[in-house]
Amino acid sequence: MRGSARILAGVPVADAVLREAAVRASRLPAPPHLVMVRLGEDPASVSYVRGKDRKAREVGLTSTVYALPEETSQAELLDLIARLNADEGVNGILVQLPLPPHVSEQAVLHAVDPHKDVDGFHPLNVGELWAGRPSLRPCTPAGILALLAHYGLPVAGQRAVIVGRSHIVGRPLAALLLNADATVTLAHSRTPNLTAVTREADLLCVAVGRPHLVTPEMVRSGATVIDVGINRVKPELSGKAYLTGDVHPDVQDVAGAMTPVPGGVGPLTIAQLLVNTVHAAEMQAAGTVRR
Ligand code: NAD
Repeated sequence: MRGSARILAGVPVADAVLREAAVRASRLPAPPHLVMVRLGEDPASVSYVRGKDRKAREVGLTSTVYALPEETSQAELLDLIARLNADEGVNGILVQLPLPPHVSEQAVLHAVDPHKDVDGFHPLNVGELWAGRPSLRPCTPAGILALLAHYGLPVAGQRAVIVGRSHIVGRPLAALLLNADATVTLAHSRTPNLTAVTREADLLCVAVGRPHLVTPEMVRSGATVIDVGINRVKPELSGKAYLTGDVHPDVQDVAGAMTPVPGGVGPLTIAQLLVNTVHAAEMQAAGTVRR
């Protein structure tokens, strides 16, 4: 990478976060148990679940993966979730999205016990988050907060602009930054004059899924830029696919600090999932969850 921006590498942060999670896990009566469920063989889902499973074991958690056939019915999936909810030996449940079209994502997210909802997508956890109360927090946004804290970058009092309003990144990130006393603007595909909005940001977070959407003229000098985008591009000439973010690499010439892609936010998403699993296990061991 070039330019003058400080590069905010995610791996050292993820390592620090995971070391702390491992210590907390070792204090529990049994290793926290994460169960992941996926339907079908979507290559991205297979690879994400494999990565999470490997990391969980590395940190000393117990991890079980249910790789179910694509044609599994919604009723069968809900039945499995009900059994996992009732199983005291299971601390965290993650159903890998996206699901096949015949299964309602909403029905599945509602079915997971909110106290085992390590993705933080259950409406109860979403509500607690927006109410500013403790909850299991969505992994990518929580990972971003951990990254900012690790590098000593301020959030309170900052003018934060988020581009992208998805339920997994943009919206929960807005809530977390708001809870941390930033002044938050949530921009999206229907925001007019995006450049005027993004140029206001001290902290600019981009989660859109469009390679190099954010260019240098859209960034205020010295701003902190968090690039959540993961885009696989394949140039016609070389034919060699590679990963790139939503932020153009030239933004490094204007930004004060910036996350790389890959190796920025990505590693923190998995780390936060494992932190959530440890946290869920701690709450369950302490008997602080309502049953
Ligand atoms: P999404 O498709 O659900 O949402 C995209 C958002 O971008 C929408 O809210 C839309 O309004 C907005 N948008 C689309 N075009 C726009 C434009 N031209 N200008 C402004 N806003 C626009 O996406 P998502 O699930 O939030 O993922 C976004 C990106 O982040 C993807 O590249 C995804 O792969 C990546 N991602 C990375 C991680 C990670 O761990 N690093 C985790 C989740 C998602």
